[in-house]
Amino acid sequence: MHRPQFEVARIVNRFGQQFVEQYRPNSFIVRTLDVLQKCRTAALGGHIDYCDYCGEQRISYNSCGNRHCPKCQGAKQALWVEDRMNDAWGKNWNVHCEPPFGNAQQIVKYLGQYSHRVAISNHRIKNISDSGVTFFYKDYKDNSKVKPATLSGVEFLRRFCMHILPKRFVKIRYYGILSSKQKDRVKSLLVKKPEIKVKETRQERIVRLTGFDSRLCPVCKTGFMHTIELLPKIRAPTNVLYPTKILSC
Ligand SMILES: [Zn+2]
Ligand SMILES: [Zn+2]
Repeated sequence: MHRPQFEVARIVNRFGQQFVEQYRPNSFIVRTLDVLQKCRTAALGGHIDYCDYCGEQRISYNSCGNRHCPKCQGAKQALWVEDRMNDAWGKNWNVHCEPPFGNAQQIVKYLGQYSHRVAISNHRIKNISDSGVTFFYKDYKDNSKVKPATLSGVEFLRRFCMHILPKRFVKIRYYGILSSKQKDRVKSLLVKKPEIKVKETRQERIVRLTGFDSRLCPVCKTGFMHTIELLPKIRAPTNVLYPTKILSC
């Protein structure tokens, strides 16, 4: 898992103020953009880690966890898919579907890709300059060929914001045996298998599901990083989207 060279966060940082002045989006959109550009920066705080093998020291900053953030969706998606598979209680449910979809596990994985998709992944952004943002898109009118397109930074953000869901909008709803009302009732009707409970942390689950271990030392790839110091959140004196206003959050 390598870090993309260009990120939506940088586009917000560079063109956000211009976009806000030009389009006057509502405060929820402004707050969303603000949190995306702060994701994994000193503004959200972090920690200093130390490698127990080579002695490397690194600073890691906290993630925003926002559902529109391209940096925060990968792990969430893997955890969601596994939780839904666990809801299926050992495949006690049948799904009628056409052959290309395959079994329940494949359907849940497929749904996970959609339910946790953000407007654009950072890997698709190829360049950010004063003249705008260049990114790759699939041209479905031309055999799904991948082509580059360039938009002004403000126009890129205007289109990105069209994908920001309204506050409290529920993207995933659960029905039938997965609805919160029925879930416990259905569970109690099922024959219980003896459960072997293994206590796993969120981090351990992510490693098992994605194969990516953020605790592994990026330098020697042998030792593990241990947190030796916590870094507090740093409040910027001004908001990059409203430079003249003092941050109130
Ligand atoms: Zn190391
Ligand atoms: Zn984030």
